[in-house]
Order: sequence, then C-alpha cells, then structure tokens
Amino acid sequence: MIYDSTNIFARILRGEIPNKTVYDDEHVLAFHDVSPAAPIHVLVIPKGEYSSFDDFAATANALVIAQFFKKVQDIAVLVGADKTGYRLVTNHGADAAQSVAHFHIHILAGKPLGSLLAEGA
Ligand code: AMP
Repeated sequence: MIYDSTNIFARILRGEIPNKTVYDDEHVLAFHDVSPAAPIHVLVIPKGEYSSFDDFAATANALVIAQFFKKVQDIAVLVGADKTGYRLVTNHGADAAQSVAHFHIHILAGKPLGSLLAEGA
C-alpha cells in the first residue's frame, strides 16, 4: 500500500484537522476516536508515514517498532485502560475494513468488550 499523505490522520499530524489529544511527543500521537466503539477508544499513531501495521512492521526500524509498542502500553496506562482490561486492534487492508491509510492502533476499554469478532467465520 503506497502512503497517501492526504489521509485524515496525516492531516491531523499537519494540524489541518483538530483532534482530542491524549498524548503527543516527537514520534507518537494519541487521540480520542471521533466515533468511539467503547467508553475508552484511543487511537495511537506513529508520526512516520506508514500506511498500515503491515507496512510499519515490514519497513520501520526495529527500534522504532519496539519504542512504538512500548508507547502504546504507556498510553493504555495513561488513559486508565489497564485497570479492568483493554483490547488492541489494528486493521490492514480491505478485508479488515481499514478506513484510514495511516497505521494506527485502537485502544478499546472501559466495558466488557465481548467476543473478538461480531460475526463468526
Ligand atoms: P480503521 O477502520 O481501523 O482504519 O479506523 C479508523 C478510525 O478512525 C475509525 O474508528 C474512525 O472513527 C476514526 N476516525 C476517523 N476520522 C477521525 C478523526 N478526524 N478524528 C478521530 N478519529 C477519527
């Protein structure tokens, strides 16, 4: 997947669209999902141009990958998601219904989240 810098998260990173920031540093931005699927629904994105998890894992430097996932855990604690449990979700491509082509991790928490998928196989 070729990175398209007109995607909505790239526009958030450029400051063209507002967001409800949870955490911001040189490498990572976390913000509330505009359409929350759980009481806590935070998106964590790297500031680098990666179109999906698949692209990130395949092309990013190993240290960048490790530091990003450590930061996801820090942010889960920051928003209190660790207290009763949380789910991480990342979608890659059409079958996963990825709708924004900038790699992001969903942190979902704040209620019992039920089974993994709404529909069976
Ligand atoms: P995905 O379907 O995994 O690509 O997830 C994209 C997510 O981005 C969805 O949960 C959307 O609700 C969320 N989203 C889209 N636009 C915005 C926005 N401007 N601010 C915050 N979240 C957004």
